[in-house]
Amino acid sequence: MSGLPASDAIMRVKRSLLTNAKRAYEIRLQTGNGGNLSGRIPGTDCIIIKARGCSFDQCQAENLITVTRDGEQVAGDGTPSQELAAHLAIYQRRPDVHGILHCHSPWAIACANMNDSIPTVTHHAKSKLGRIPVLRLSDETTQAKVAAIEAMLSANRDLRAFVEDRHGIFSFASTIELARYNAELVEETAQIAWSMALNGQLASNRVSEA
Ligand SMILES: [Zn+2]
Repeated sequence: MSGLPASDAIMRVKRSLLTNAKRAYEIRLQTGNGGNLSGRIPGTDCIIIKARGCSFDQCQAENLITVTRDGEQVAGDGTPSQELAAHLAIYQRRPDVHGILHCHSPWAIACANMNDSIPTVTHHAKSKLGRIPVLRLSDETTQAKVAAIEAMLSANRDLRAFVEDRHGIFSFASTIELARYNAELVEETAQIAWSMALNGQLASNRVSEA
């Protein structure tokens, strides 16, 4: 690992972050100015993360911020996303991860509130994601959240995504593009699981009314 990254490496990571931020906004995986995403700069101890308060749609190279593994800001305008500590905890525990996307997608949040994990009800979700656990926090501090994420990653070595209760999806992969695909699949899976549960409820209502 080296210290500060070369500028071409930074631009490559920024370009992929901008492309995937815009795509996530276009498909309404994240609306408003919530959510965040980041990418690891290969061969360094640094990551690039979206600035706090800017929407995925407003992401520019200038408001993507470079920070060290210790969270020290070394370049970029504004303040790093308030989920910086969560992102750093995932990168620290998972050297294979080079991209993280966090979004407040409604089906995933609704489903997480009812279950210990998002039911992987489709074959493709089961094969591509495996388990999608729900992270529940008894304490809203950053310290408690980081500890809970570390425990979850230790218990699930090849985890690709989890959903924080009443908050949203955290998905991660070897590239930010794959992380976005994972987030899309979590949201799609949650929508299908919810619809199947509703369908089952309607069916049982029909039986009881007969
Ligand atoms: Zn959030």
